[in-house]
Amino acid sequence: MAAIDGLPPLREVIATHELVAKKSLGQNFLLDLNLTAKIARSAGDLTGYDVLEVGPGPGGLTRGLLAEGARKVLAVEKDSRCLDALAEIAAHYPGRLEVIQGDALAVDLGAHLTAPYKIAANLPYNVGTELLVRWLTPPVWPPAWESLTLMFQKEVAQRITAKVGDNHYGRLAILAQWRTDARIVMSLPPEAFQPAPKVHSAVVHLKALAAPRHDADAKVLERVVAAGFNQRRKMLRSSLKGLHPDIEALLDAAGIAPTERAERVSLEQFCTLARLLDAA
Ligand code: SAM
Repeated sequence: MAAIDGLPPLREVIATHELVAKKSLGQNFLLDLNLTAKIARSAGDLTGYDVLEVGPGPGGLTRGLLAEGARKVLAVEKDSRCLDALAEIAAHYPGRLEVIQGDALAVDLGAHLTAPYKIAANLPYNVGTELLVRWLTPPVWPPAWESLTLMFQKEVAQRITAKVGDNHYGRLAILAQWRTDARIVMSLPPEAFQPAPKVHSAVVHLKALAAPRHDADAKVLERVVAAGFNQRRKMLRSSLKGLHPDIEALLDAAGIAPTERAERVSLEQFCTLARLLDAA
C-alpha cells in the first residue's frame, strides 16, 4: 500500500535500495510514517521555516518534515547508499529538499539555510551529544536556529532535562537549560526502530530563549561547570580550586557551601559563581 504522501512505504524503500543498517553509522531507522509525522509535528509550525535534518537515512522523518510544510529541508547524510532514496523524495517535493552527502560534524551548514531555522533529527547516537553541544554553544546568542527537536537515547534525554539534585543532572542540563526551554516530548520503545536498539529513546524539544536565563559569560560558565562535574563526587572547594586561588571565598559569596557537590548546585548559583569568577 502506498504511503499517504504517494511515495513507497519505507520498508519498500529500504529493500529497493538495499539499505542494510550499519551499526558503525548509528543506523536505527524509523519505518512508521505516522510516527515520523508526529515527530515532525512536535517541532511546531514548520511553514515558512527552513529545517536542518542530520542523518535522513531512508527519509522517514524527511518526508514528515516536508509533509508538515517545511519551506525547505537541508538533509546531511554520511551514507552515500541513501542518496538515491533521498533523490526520489526530492523529486516528489520539487525545490524543497537539498541533500548534502557528508559528515555533519565537518560541513558548514549555516550557509545553506535561512535563519531563523529549525533543526530536527533522529540523530546517530555516536555524534548526537557532540552536535547538541555545538548547537548550544554558538559564538553569539540567540543562535541562528529557533528550536531543536532531537531523538536521543532516553538516558541522554534525561541528562538534558534533569533538574538540580536528579541523578542525571550535570553539564548537559546546565548547558541546555541556561539558554533554552528543554523538555521531553515523546518516548519511544526499542521496537519503534529497525533494527531495534538495546535502549529506549526519547525526543527532546529545545526552544532557544531570546536571552540566557541568568547573566554569565558563556566561556566562564562552561569552565566552571566542566570543572565541577568532571569530579562530581568531590566537594567544590576541591574540584574548582584550579579556577581561582581563593575559590572558597567566591563560593561563599555566591551562596554555595564550599563543601557542596556540583550536583546540588542550581543553574542560577552556577551563573552567580561564573559572574564572580569573571569579575575576580
Ligand atoms: N532519520 C532516519 C530515520 O529516522 O529513520 C535515520 C536515523 S539513524 C538513527 C542515523 C542516520 O545518521 C543514519 O542514516 C546515518 O547514516 C546517519 N549518520 C551517521 N553519522 C553521521 C554523520 N556524522 N553525519 C551525517 N549523517 C550521519
